[in-house]
Amino acid sequence: MTARAVADVIPRGTALIRDAGVLRRHGAGGPHYTSYPTANDLTTDVSERDLTAALQRSNASGRNLSLYVHVPFCRHRCHHCARTRVTTETTRRAEPYLSRLDREMVLASRHLERAREVSQLHWGGGTPTFLTLDQMSDLFDRLDARFGLSNSRDRDYSIKVDPRDADVFTLRHLQALGFNRLSLSVLDLDPRVQRAINRYQPRVLTEQLIDEAHRLGFRSLGLELMHGLPGQTQESLAETLEQVIAMAPARLSLSPYTHRPERFVSQRGIRADELPSATEQAGMLETALSMLANAGYVHIGMETFARQDDSLAKAQARGQLSRGLNGYSALAPCDELGLGVGALSRLGGIATRNPMSLGDYERRLDAGHLPVERGLRLTDDDRLRACAIERLMCDMSLDLGALGQEFKLDASAHLHDALTRLAPAEQDGLVRRVDQRLKVTPLGRLLVHHLAAAFDARAG
Ligand code: SF4
Repeated sequence: MTARAVADVIPRGTALIRDAGVLRRHGAGGPHYTSYPTANDLTTDVSERDLTAALQRSNASGRNLSLYVHVPFCRHRCHHCARTRVTTETTRRAEPYLSRLDREMVLASRHLERAREVSQLHWGGGTPTFLTLDQMSDLFDRLDARFGLSNSRDRDYSIKVDPRDADVFTLRHLQALGFNRLSLSVLDLDPRVQRAINRYQPRVLTEQLIDEAHRLGFRSLGLELMHGLPGQTQESLAETLEQVIAMAPARLSLSPYTHRPERFVSQRGIRADELPSATEQAGMLETALSMLANAGYVHIGMETFARQDDSLAKAQARGQLSRGLNGYSALAPCDELGLGVGALSRLGGIATRNPMSLGDYERRLDAGHLPVERGLRLTDDDRLRACAIERLMCDMSLDLGALGQEFKLDASAHLHDALTRLAPAEQDGLVRRVDQRLKVTPLGRLLVHHLAAAFDARAG
């Protein structure tokens, strides 16, 4: 797409992001508030006994279960990667890990009532499609044997797919297992950007998978894109978006690249001077917002977009969107159990995290223990703030009067600290307050995690 064509996408005078400084002031990093308290707040003050008690307590919650399975293996070395992963070509290396996962399932599931429905299942990584088809079947069967998986039409069973590791046979296999949602990692379709991040992924690979997924009737297909990558320009991102929109995925995510080479070794393959400037990034976002809106996508919040007929957009319109450890969901909130290295759980009044190190994770299980490493017991204040954050991020508004009624207190007075911290965002036009109601503006949708941070009493 030429610069002129990009300018045509955003008619003069309608720009949403008038000042790149707003993005700098409010948008740099920070938690995405898929839970509150966040993973950064967890301490070592929680034991295996706390987790087993929480699992037992959660049976009385009346909530369905959401299971997350972390597959840490990956055969690639993308320069932008910020994930904890084990890079290997050898799928046999996953075998001992799959046995440990099964041991963890046995230890956790014995505290959960078998009748509880597993309405959500998510496999993330690393790259879950690193596994062979037989390993995937084995893992799925073990999950079914331990927890009793659902075959309800309304279940949300999703898996992250790397198009370089998957073909039409993979998709057919995933569907036969019971997955009904796919999330495809694409990042950018421009070969120059792909080269700069060491991720060569011809467009045809993605197109073939999307065609097959549509043909097989996967309920919802999500594509993951990124902005702020080396070599990316407003024009190149517009071209990628044009092609992606033509593929008609039901959901899209457009996440910002955060350059932290001091923390993530693989990012040392990217030079800071290859990255787009803050002004260029603002232009990219402006273009993306405009193109996606014109194509009929609803901006759900932050990096998430969905077609108007997708369940996420419908749930948001009805005020029934929820947000959990795996992001936005159209289903009712669940008790969340994470399995695998670094996996997070949240149920029965506590939040926990497994060890980030594969060795520590395996050692705990080999000694016959649930591998909880960090955690936190939630206080009443945590619950109130978590509810405020979830409603703000899902509804793009917050009714302090209703929140106060639910928690039987004066929410405006109790959250005075948060409302004070929101003042700069109000001045920058991200949020408006009218009496007892906060209303997030269209620009605020992009930065809603920053607004959520104002409610975070634990932020350092
Ligand atoms: S971004 Fe995904 S595919 Fe690339 S190295 Fe990281 S885990 Fe592997």
